[in-house]
Amino acid sequence: MKKQLFYALTSLALLTGCGNQEQKTAPENQKFSYTVEKFADLQILRYKVTGFEELTLQQKELVYYLTEAALWGRDIFYDQNGKYNLTISRALEAIYTGYQGDRNSADFKAMEVYLKRVWFSAGIHHHYGSEKFVPGFSEDFFRKALSSLDAASLPLKQGQTVEQLCDEICPIIFNPDLLKMRTNQADGEDLVLTSAVNFYEGLTQAEAEAFYNKMKDPKDETPVSYGLNSKLVKKDGKIYEDVYKVGGLYGAAIEKIVYWLQKAEGVAETPEQKAVIAKLIEYYQTGDLKTFDDYTILWVKDLNSLVDFTNGFTETYDDPLGMKGTWEAIVNFKDLQATRRTETISKNAQWFEDHSPVDNQFKKENVKGISAKVITASILSGALYPSTAIGINLPNSNWVRAQHGSKSVTIGNITDAYNKAAHGNGFNEEFVYSQAELDLIDKYADYTDELHTDMHECLGHASGKLLPGVDPDALKAYGSPLEEGRADLFALYYLADPKLTELGLTPDAEAYKSEYYTYLMNGLMTQLVRIEPGKNIEEAHMRNRSFVSHWVYEHGKAENVVELAKKDGKTYVKINDYQKLRNLFGQLLAEVQRIKSTGDYEAARRLIEDYGVKVDPELHKEILDRYEKLNLAPYKGFVNPKYELVKDANGQVTDVKVTYDESYVEQMLRYSKDYRTL
Ligand code: ZN
Repeated sequence: MKKQLFYALTSLALLTGCGNQEQKTAPENQKFSYTVEKFADLQILRYKVTGFEELTLQQKELVYYLTEAALWGRDIFYDQNGKYNLTISRALEAIYTGYQGDRNSADFKAMEVYLKRVWFSAGIHHHYGSEKFVPGFSEDFFRKALSSLDAASLPLKQGQTVEQLCDEICPIIFNPDLLKMRTNQADGEDLVLTSAVNFYEGLTQAEAEAFYNKMKDPKDETPVSYGLNSKLVKKDGKIYEDVYKVGGLYGAAIEKIVYWLQKAEGVAETPEQKAVIAKLIEYYQTGDLKTFDDYTILWVKDLNSLVDFTNGFTETYDDPLGMKGTWEAIVNFKDLQATRRTETISKNAQWFEDHSPVDNQFKKENVKGISAKVITASILSGALYPSTAIGINLPNSNWVRAQHGSKSVTIGNITDAYNKAAHGNGFNEEFVYSQAELDLIDKYADYTDELHTDMHECLGHASGKLLPGVDPDALKAYGSPLEEGRADLFALYYLADPKLTELGLTPDAEAYKSEYYTYLMNGLMTQLVRIEPGKNIEEAHMRNRSFVSHWVYEHGKAENVVELAKKDGKTYVKINDYQKLRNLFGQLLAEVQRIKSTGDYEAARRLIEDYGVKVDPELHKEILDRYEKLNLAPYKGFVNPKYELVKDANGQVTDVKVTYDESYVEQMLRYSKDYRTL
């Protein structure tokens, strides 16, 4: 599970911190800039790998090899997002680099923006909203531009002409009725047939579900993650899995990943870490999901290595059926100082579990193996690039988590980069009700945002249990938003608890109010800036924030706990009773846990559909208008640093150099060229 940036736009800015938070050191290189460029609804930022220079040579080498293993998976992610994505992005890149016509024409400029968006999404659909991009350039321009290029620069299949290539991809780009959504979650439709993701081919949702239902044994207490690493195909009446592995689907990319993992294995920090890497290699070689579970168990137990990584088919949000893992990779090392905070939270996990408002039968008697740390990301790839999470909690297998625990991380240098880049952008001044709330946010939000993330990851996802015999996939498409809501509610409920001040986690009894305010402002209003007029809320984390916020708003109405107040014709969130709001969060947490523990699909469906999906068109328009005037980008992503091995005259590695001067376009073109496999 990954924790998305919470207030992409808001409170991470501005703040002066509240004393508990250590100050990150300023980049010694004055030329370092956190902002790179802006286009469409996107802003590109840069993150600093603070502390890299202090790693040992062996650790630096390890980071380097894992970084290469991360970058070689790039093409897999493009292809999983849609079967035409690699061809289309390569055709666009060919025009971008080779076009000799007017590069200042409106068509070329629009093509450039489109290409930058395709890079950002690793495909032709929006990375967050999932809808297909509308190209701002004409089909005529595109065809003529492609025809004007050297055919050798084009992604032509054996024997294919340029015209045939155009005929293949033009409808995909220009026909708005084809492949409308990357991942369709619309209630009641055939989600497999109407989703553009490349996880299924030639079959219906019912056929896919039947295929996997037949595999599942309800009595199996340690089931593998069925379907996680394969494409499900129906050909000549036969349904089978095309498995991602060496010698299988995506074999060329996976071979490269394995090559660099083997290098990493040679410089592993500890025998435990070496075993983790070896098991991952075995999994990539065999595609065996049992081996994958063995690997995750080794990984979750390796707590002593400073350097850590994820590399593989991981999150299932992009599959409308929630089974297929999207490829992602991150390499990181532990931020020792900041980790102390999350260790305090984890040490007290059982206390939080025991005192939660959840029905006792749904609580864990032993909350096991929660490890929490703050990490410094050194590379992002696949589904974590350029748009990334700020926290990660893995593995996802329910029984592995229950029996062996999970690792939970907050990515400190990413959060830090968001803070620095958003400083003073005017957002809170526009949307916050009055000076009193602004002061609260100013004083606490930077810290309470991070604390919320930590509690969401370390406590929220780790809490609670399923009743015996309940299918972990019972909630289907509603499982993800409900689970994210559960983790949020657990964190929100406890942020206001005196226990936190007692543990030294919050500076005083007021701090939580800042988080309550910004959470509701986001869930009831400002996250709507990410939705186009007339559209519903689709993405799991957005549905989560929406259903949590709207549920407490509606259920507190009789007592006016939260109000949508008007001032000068503008709408604001106004919280009239913070303690009652806390009680409402507690009530909803109990209900959400009941739904998850019992697999109550109908209740999950109602909760999400009634509170999480629909948008009030009038309020939506108002928010978009106000937001537009601020001229901010609602989504952010990152360019990676660049790593180079430094060698002496004998070819021995003496250092690893990290630099930060690559632009977004330079990086994307370099990756496309240097890490091409499929
Ligand atoms: Zn989460």
